[in-house]
Amino acid sequence: MDFLKPTRYVPMNRRRRIYEGKAKILYEGPEPGTLIQHFKDDATAFNAKKHAIIDGKGVLNNRISEFIFNHLNAMGIPTHFIRRMNMREQLIREVEIIPLEVVVRNVAAGSIATRLGIEEGTQLPRSIIEFYYKNDELNDPMVAEEHITAFGWATPQELDDVMALAIRVNDFLSGLFLGVGIRLVDFKIECGRLFEGDMMRIVVADEISPDSCRLWDINTNEKMDKDRFRRDMGGMLEAYQEVAKRLGILNENERPANTGPTLVQ
Ligand code: UDP
Repeated sequence: MDFLKPTRYVPMNRRRRIYEGKAKILYEGPEPGTLIQHFKDDATAFNAKKHAIIDGKGVLNNRISEFIFNHLNAMGIPTHFIRRMNMREQLIREVEIIPLEVVVRNVAAGSIATRLGIEEGTQLPRSIIEFYYKNDELNDPMVAEEHITAFGWATPQELDDVMALAIRVNDFLSGLFLGVGIRLVDFKIECGRLFEGDMMRIVVADEISPDSCRLWDINTNEKMDKDRFRRDMGGMLEAYQEVAKRLGILNENERPANTGPTLVQ
């Protein structure tokens, strides 16, 4: 278990950058088979046509995602997550990402509400899993299992594993958020192939944070997720802080992530 040893310190600017996405950067990790996932403050929506920097968002998402992935690991739901390293970075296992956004919905909102003419906030008859093909040029089109297996993005067995993971994550997250007065409307996960010797298994990868979930306050229906940015509602950082606070990640008295020292009068 080499990755459990303290990691050799390599200054950020000397690490090899493997990939840069909209909200995260991947660097090569300290050991073979590991990567470092760095959370940026960039917020994007509508395939990056809308973009802003939200100071402190990356720090919050790093912490929230760490919290969730630690719990998933502890429950035996396999993930790529090893541990958080610092304010913006986590050590992860290198996986081969399956090019799908796996969306699980409990309540109608966003694209399903528009596409099928269902009023936002309507409880769905059961949890629904949808797949979108990850391709910016094509605007991440929705695809069916048929497309996924026919084009070889995942095998039928892998897709079964992906769906089983998605349902387990949904059950865990729904309960976790319900316990802190938040309704899990929907969320997106990405999965990857983790190779261990001759073995391969499908694990949850990427991040799970208010960037990738719809989270509504149980009592007020107030949005506590990226829709605040998509819909120009403001208060995005405060909403993410509230999610972190309710999960017990941020101390009630802790300073907001984006302010300097406060003068005590
Ligand atoms: N989602 C995401 N990344 C994407 C698209 C969607 O994390 O590129 C999440 C989104 O935050 C929501 C869920 O997946 O929690 C379902 O999104 P939807 O299909 O309704 O699309 P949207 O309305 O966000 O365009």
